[in-house]
Amino acid sequence: MKKIIGDPDRVIEDYIAGLVAGSAHLARLAGWPVVVRSPETRKPRDRVAIVAGGGSGHEPAHAGYVGAGMLDAAVLGPVFTSPSVDAVLAAVRAVATDAGVLLVVKNYTGDRLNFGLAAELARAEGIRVETVLVADDAALGEGSRVGARGLTATVLAHKVAGASAERGSSLEEIAAVVRRLLAGAATMGVALGPCSVPGAEANFALGADEVEWGLGIHGEAGAERSGIVPAAAIAERLLDTVCSARGFAPGTEVVALVNGLGGTPDLELRILQGAVLAGLTRRGLRARMSWAGAFLTSLEMPGASLTVAAVDAELLELLAEETSVAAFPRTTPLLDPERVTELPAPADPVAAAVGTASASEVVLLHAAVAALAQALGDAEPELSALDRRVGDGDLGINLARGAAAVRAAGERLAGLPDPAAYLRALSEVLRREIGGTSGPLYSTLVLGLAESLRGVPHPGPQEWAEAAAHGVARVRRVGGAAPGDSTMVDALVPGVAALAAAAGPRERLAAAAAAARAGAEATAALTPSLGRSSYLGERAVGVPDPGAVAVAIQLEALAAHLGGGA
Ligand code: ADP
Ligand code: MG
Repeated sequence: MKKIIGDPDRVIEDYIAGLVAGSAHLARLAGWPVVVRSPETRKPRDRVAIVAGGGSGHEPAHAGYVGAGMLDAAVLGPVFTSPSVDAVLAAVRAVATDAGVLLVVKNYTGDRLNFGLAAELARAEGIRVETVLVADDAALGEGSRVGARGLTATVLAHKVAGASAERGSSLEEIAAVVRRLLAGAATMGVALGPCSVPGAEANFALGADEVEWGLGIHGEAGAERSGIVPAAAIAERLLDTVCSARGFAPGTEVVALVNGLGGTPDLELRILQGAVLAGLTRRGLRARMSWAGAFLTSLEMPGASLTVAAVDAELLELLAEETSVAAFPRTTPLLDPERVTELPAPADPVAAAVGTASASEVVLLHAAVAALAQALGDAEPELSALDRRVGDGDLGINLARGAAAVRAAGERLAGLPDPAAYLRALSEVLRREIGGTSGPLYSTLVLGLAESLRGVPHPGPQEWAEAAAHGVARVRRVGGAAPGDSTMVDALVPGVAALAAAAGPRERLAAAAAAARAGAEATAALTPSLGRSSYLGERAVGVPDPGAVAVAIQLEALAAHLGGGA
């Protein structure tokens, strides 16, 4: 497994060094794998200090939670291995105040022993120490001798403990409020793949379509394997487990934390978050806060976990309190189910023009455009394959989306009074729908045609040729591409030249299509200097520019549709 590391035996050292170097509010405890607040942000002596930690590999947990409003120190063990008693004791001594120290411990044998013994030793030195145990794992059910594992509720425990300490609560009060949170919190996760400890192989294998439910944060076995299911079904299964673990009554106010395990993008976490919030509502539960992000990971594991916790007014206040740490939002506003989540968009000018009498000219024009759109839709696989080789692979999809939008807007477009109005509206549809680089360029091209045909209700072949030339000139001005740069311009320029030059109107489009095809094919020999393909430089040689090929396909479709006469 490739990783951005140096010496695999020094990953924790190097992590601490990087985190502290880039975070003004952090410092490390000399000689120990302990991250503390910088001297300027240290807490007064009459406030309880909060200490947490555990094995590494769960970043940003736990050092990312050190700072005002959350932790005073984080103790970092080796990857997936509990820190030593002495490291915990060093952290406790370093941040202990007159008000005492609260240790937040996840329920793993190693953590219990090391943190527990450190607490004993600190008490013997006269430091007031309390511990709270996080055991929120709902996956394995009750009845195991070691009890539920500590998972992502840890992060909420840090937040509640830190905020309560910052307010000046006593050690006993803080321990009590954190235990109240934890008593109503449950977590369940799903892994889409394994992770690998630096310097080692992946810790388990999953089939291409397999997921593992309810695994622990060290990649230890879960409750069950199944095939991958859609996000909504994942949300349901996670919700069923966590809700039945805590038996939330309808009407209960809850918070929901969707946690990425390290290898799942925000795109997917937000999809899951939406499904989770909808599922909570369906269960009659009232979600008052929600987070989605990587809060407690298992290295680069793809997957997510869901923590739901019942809350009361005090817990909500503590969760909302300001904090300044690397890994948790500074503040979390309350969710109001009544709030407006959709704002009206400005009126669509194409729609506004509906009902205007259509000219036969426009009907013919729209039929031609529809034929062209059809060809683009059909060519999606070919264009996508080309763009995958020299671009980012989306050209086929982008143009097919534009084609579909043209079809969808067909009735409105065909109802416009003249070609110029039609093309202006078409330009808007393309601009809105295609996106990427092609979107604005096609939109510009069509707008150029519209400009040129303003006041020309019945354009003839010569006027169409001039309009096309004007549109292409606009594309060149906006995109800055000249022939030879290996872009769509290499097909457009010879195409419009042929349109103007061919002897009779019947040959014009056929000649334009042939010239565009030749221009597109010639781009295979060029080194692109504009657009995404330019990043490939010489490596793109041998592959025709997908945008130029798309132009050829469209002109060929147009020529076929109009039977070679324009
Ligand atoms: P993106 O690179 O944003 O994904 P698309 O996939 O929509 O863009 O379009 C890629 C095509 O855009 C290229 O194949 C090329 O023909 C065209 N292109 C890129 N840059 C320019 C430019 N400056 N002028 C004209 N066409 C360009
Ligand atoms: Mg692209």
